[in-house]
Amino acid sequence: MIEIHEGDITSLPVDAIVNAANNSLLGGGGVDGAIHRAAGPKLLQACRPLHGCETGEAKITPGFNLPARYVIHTVGPVWQGGGQGEDALLESAYRRSFEVALENGVRSIAFPAISTGVYGFPKERAAQIALKVMREYEDRFERIVAVCFSHEDAALYRKVLSAYVRR
Ligand code: ADP
Repeated sequence: MIEIHEGDITSLPVDAIVNAANNSLLGGGGVDGAIHRAAGPKLLQACRPLHGCETGEAKITPGFNLPARYVIHTVGPVWQGGGQGEDALLESAYRRSFEVALENGVRSIAFPAISTGVYGFPKERAAQIALKVMREYEDRFERIVAVCFSHEDAALYRKVLSAYVRR
């Protein structure tokens, strides 16, 4: 079941939260910064030996001080106009996060709106990709939470999700 949640992903008591990280996996701003602050310094120590992450790939660590048991770090594409494979890379970021989750017995998982902050991916197009992949994996999880950081983003997700339901 897909839930849309408006708020801070770091507060969610799910098996895994997904981090919209950068290729270094060594921390950044936005949701990445918030996750590292809430998890504590051990998260950075756990990320160092991973030697970064390719765009569209995902890697897992413990959640340390977070309510979530795991953090799945994925890297979405930087929006460059749409002609550089951005759609496929964003889809891959969601898909690989789900696959890593399944490999680790995760039953409940929460995602931020990957690439839609500093990376500049158009929000509606990103929401369509996010919700399409979430629907594909819906049957294999107890809970899939799409976390929206603003009221506007949550309204957009609800609109995109209801368009699927009507079909
Ligand atoms: P990216 O570099 O992938 O664009 P950002 O962190 O800049 O990543 O933004 C991704 C999305 O995460 C944006 O929609 C932003 O509003 C949202 N976001 C920022 N902080 C949080 C948070 N604490 N919880 C959930 N979502 C967040």
